[in-house]
This record gives sequence, structure tokens and C-alpha cells, in this order.
Amino acid sequence: MTDWRIPLSDLDYGEEERAAVERVLRSKWLSMGPEVAAFESEFAETQGLRHAVAVANGTAALHLSLAVAGVGAGDEVVQPALNFVAAANMTVALGAVPVFADIVGLEEPTISAGEVARLIGPRTKAVVAMHYGGNLARVAEIRRLCDERGLVMIEDACHAVGAPARGVKAGGFGELAAFSFFSNKNLAIGEGGMVATSSDDFAKRLRLLRSHGMTSLSWDRHSGHASSYDVVAHGYNYRLDDLHAALGRAQLAKLPANNQKRRELLRAYRSGLRLSDGWLMPFADHIESSSGHLMALLAPNADARNRLAGRLREAGIQTSMHYPCIADFEAFASSRTSAIPITREFAKRAITLPMFATMAFEQVREAAEAVNAQATEL
Ligand SMILES: *Cc1c(COP(=O)(O)O)cnc(C)c1O
Repeated sequence: MTDWRIPLSDLDYGEEERAAVERVLRSKWLSMGPEVAAFESEFAETQGLRHAVAVANGTAALHLSLAVAGVGAGDEVVQPALNFVAAANMTVALGAVPVFADIVGLEEPTISAGEVARLIGPRTKAVVAMHYGGNLARVAEIRRLCDERGLVMIEDACHAVGAPARGVKAGGFGELAAFSFFSNKNLAIGEGGMVATSSDDFAKRLRLLRSHGMTSLSWDRHSGHASSYDVVAHGYNYRLDDLHAALGRAQLAKLPANNQKRRELLRAYRSGLRLSDGWLMPFADHIESSSGHLMALLAPNADARNRLAGRLREAGIQTSMHYPCIADFEAFASSRTSAIPITREFAKRAITLPMFATMAFEQVREAAEAVNAQATEL
């Protein structure tokens, strides 16, 4: 593992997580059981969600969301091309077609409701809104559009757990929402995810599909609540296990303070960066409602972005890109894509700087100064 002076992301792990794992080891029940049930109810309660169904990862959460939304062969799902590839891949896995809609703008890189409206057709079943960097998409506009056109709204909330600090939180706008708890997310457990839903029927269906379509779990049989089962749907094994759920409960308790720290770090970046013409910090005026998942920056052009990435690498500062345009990946080369010029421009110019809850303000200053050195010499 490369020893970065400042890594892109890092864990906030300590005694709470150690105690959580030890509790599960002592219980001698490792797979889905009481820790998963407790994590689900604590997650639903703290995030203001009606149902929370824990799953193996965020991609499984998206797959099940699309499946219970009724997405099947030949259907279309309108979604952003500026996203991690999981939602698009899971759309294709169900035999459906991702239809990519452009983003609102370079400073608001979430799906444009106007573009979504233009792309809705007779086969459209659902719309995926992704909360880029932990900043809510235009949820009210997308909600209204989906209601008018009879479509299911799915939030890809993998960046946005706990956002905003006050008010309706990510996951509370769509009929369905997918969260990821991968190691680099705001709530990190290694591999894990959650589906939130406002629908009792969807919740039932999600629980069935998560575990082979079986009507009872090993835990139910172990604890004497069931002795047999039927299989009533063709499901998957997308279960979370109790070890990861216990880590999730420890991380959930830290989430409000950690997201608050991330917002303070974003403010420190904002005041530390001296950006000349052509440099942009998306969502810079909306830090108070963000989960602070990413510190994204746009360079004036691709060349400046690539030179900045090289300069920071030499200084031991890790960077990334969120994201390459999905429509330009080889596996999506044959996908039907309308013009998405803002997405392509964003993907060429975007760079992501270090951001994690245990980051020191001194590290922000160091990263910001390395950017300033280039941003002011152009
Ligand atoms: C991380 C992520 C996913 C996938 O989640 P996994 O838990 O890695 O499967 C999907 N969408 C977005 C926006 C993500 O950031």
C-alpha cells in the first residue's frame, strides 16, 4: 500500500468498532441476525425512513431497488452518466436500458429534471437521482415529474448518508433509495449497503429477494420462530452479516459528528483555495446541507486537471476522479445516449481532493496550497 502523506479517504475506527466485533464474536452468531435487525431499525429511526433493509453492498441495494420497482426486459431507466457505474450495470443486469440524462450544470452536477422530462418515453419505468458528493439532487422537481408520469423515483444515496443535517434526509424522497457502506463512504464497514423504502409492499418484497425468496431465515429457525420455509420468489443472497451490522451501528453513532466535521473541512478548503478564472468548486454555496462525502474541484480544462493530479501525487497527496462519463466506457459503447455535453465537460475537468472525518485542518491547508500553487500560475 502506498504511503500517502494525505490519503483520499481514511477510516474513523477505534474502541467502539473493536467492542462491536467482540460482542458478535462472543454471541457466536455471525450471519444475518439480531445485529442486522438492530442496525436496520437504528438506521431507519435516525434517518427518518419508514423501512430500512440491510444488504450486502450498495450495488445489491440498487439491483433490488430496480427489481422491486418492476424494471425488466426492454424497460428504460433514466439516470445520470455522471455516477459510479453500479446503477447503470444493474439496469443492464435486469435486461433494461439505461438512458443517460445530462446534469444541471458544472456547479450542480446532479441529474437535470428538464433533461429527464425530455427523455421519458413509453418504456420508461424509473428515474435514478444520484446525490453527487453528498449534495441532494433536485429531489422536489424529480419527485413531481415521477408522480405526473407514473414513474418510480430511486435515489442513489451512496454518497449522502445523513444529508442534510436538518430536514428530510437522503433516502426520504424516492419510493426507494440505495446506500453503500463501502470502506471509503461516510459510514464505512468494508462491504455493506441499505435499501430505504416508503412502501410496505416494497419492503416485504426487498426482504424476500434479499434472501432467495425464502419465507424464513436461518435466524428465525435457530431462534424457534420457524421450522420450515417456502420459496415464493426468485431471489438472491444479498444478506448483510451480523459482524458488519455491528460495525454499522458503531459508525452510525458517529455519523452526525463525522458529517459535521466533513462540512467544516469543506469550509476550510473553500476559504483556503484561491481559485482563479476557470476553476470551480461545485456546491460551494450549499455546504450546510451536504454530507461532505467528496471534495470535488473543476480545473479550467483536462490538461490542467491532469497536471494538478500529477503535482499532488508528487507531493504525496492522493486524488481521484468522480467520475468518468459512463456512456464513454467500452461496455456502454452501444448504449443510446443523447447529448450530455455538461456531463462530458465535467468528467474532463473534475478532480477529487482528500476528504475524511479524521482529516486535520492542517492537511486541508497543505492540500489547498498545493492546488493554489498551480491555480495561480496558469
Ligand atoms: C459506492 C457507490 C456505489 C456502489 O456501492 P458498493 O457498496 O461499492 O456496491 C453506487 N453508487 C455510488 C454513487 C457509489 O458511490
